[in-house]
Amino acid sequence: GLMLVGTGCKSDKKPEGSGDTAAKPAAPQELTIALLLPESKTMRYESFDRPYFEKKVRELCTECKIIYSNADQDASKQQNQAEAALTNGAKVLVLDPVDSLSVVSVVARARQAKIPVVSYDRLILNADVDYYISFDNEKIGQLQGQALVDKLKADGKDKGTIVVINGSPTDNNAKLYKNGAHSVIDGSGLVIGAEYDTPDWSPDKAQQQMEQAITKLGKDKIAGVYAANDGMAGGAIAAMKAAGFNPLPPVTGQDSELAAIQRVVAGEQYMTIYKAMKLEAEAAAEVAVALARGGQPAADKVNGKVNNGLKDVPSILLTAGTVTKDNVKSTVVADGFWKAEQICEGA
Ligand code: BGC
Repeated sequence: GLMLVGTGCKSDKKPEGSGDTAAKPAAPQELTIALLLPESKTMRYESFDRPYFEKKVRELCTECKIIYSNADQDASKQQNQAEAALTNGAKVLVLDPVDSLSVVSVVARARQAKIPVVSYDRLILNADVDYYISFDNEKIGQLQGQALVDKLKADGKDKGTIVVINGSPTDNNAKLYKNGAHSVIDGSGLVIGAEYDTPDWSPDKAQQQMEQAITKLGKDKIAGVYAANDGMAGGAIAAMKAAGFNPLPPVTGQDSELAAIQRVVAGEQYMTIYKAMKLEAEAAAEVAVALARGGQPAADKVNGKVNNGLKDVPSILLTAGTVTKDNVKSTVVADGFWKAEQICEGA
């Protein structure tokens, strides 16, 4: 096996197997909670958001039953899933929308039936939602942009040309990351040679966009890449490797996906963002259970309000941080997000 020593992977002892979760005794189930997630290409949803949410709900509420749906990036599929959840007696919807606007009608239907709606991670716009649980997403965009600006400055490339790869135009978060990144990059001296919004946050589309950017700008011109998340960073890096970039320029990301952390340790991706999705999912579970029981979440948990175009939505906003090679150990490893052995398996 390999282990994380300093900022790299060294050969040493064997990884430990992780324990499996034991089945809980059956309980009378009457309160139904629906969790509706947007896609499964990005690993967080099936690996973190869903299991942490379900575990916390089970802990807090033996009488709760969970309906889980994943929309696979399909907005109309998600609409049907949300409607099905209402038909099947959901007492609360926890909804992470594929398209921040196209869920408005189903939220209205929930509202009519007095079923509260929690906007999970992505904000549902222009709708009467009850709570919003996420991170400070504009700040995340700033952290990504700042890391790239600082790195290129340190490398003496402060007037360099960069490629900007944003997330899905139907995701309000993508807008926030983009705005945050631009607030730092614009005026920094860096030149944006090409910029794309990426449908569905698709890593494959990001790879194609990067190929286009290389053709347009020329291989030697590209000093860095702002990619809004790790999946797309992976696509951009694949395109640059195929085009023979050596060394690779600094590339940003987000989510601390295992493959991205491995690239960071290997020096292929400059940074990612660590968001404690466990805390986000657990906060959503607490709110959902309180609402399903007809109550309100503990007031001291709610730490802000975010306007969604219709109202100021009471919000729980968590903080995220930058991960580079230098702090992998003190961030994602120290927090138990990834074990050093897992990171070094693929290195
Ligand atoms: C989330 C990111 C995720 C992206 C793609 C965003 O709304 O905040 O964590 O990488 O969607 O699913």
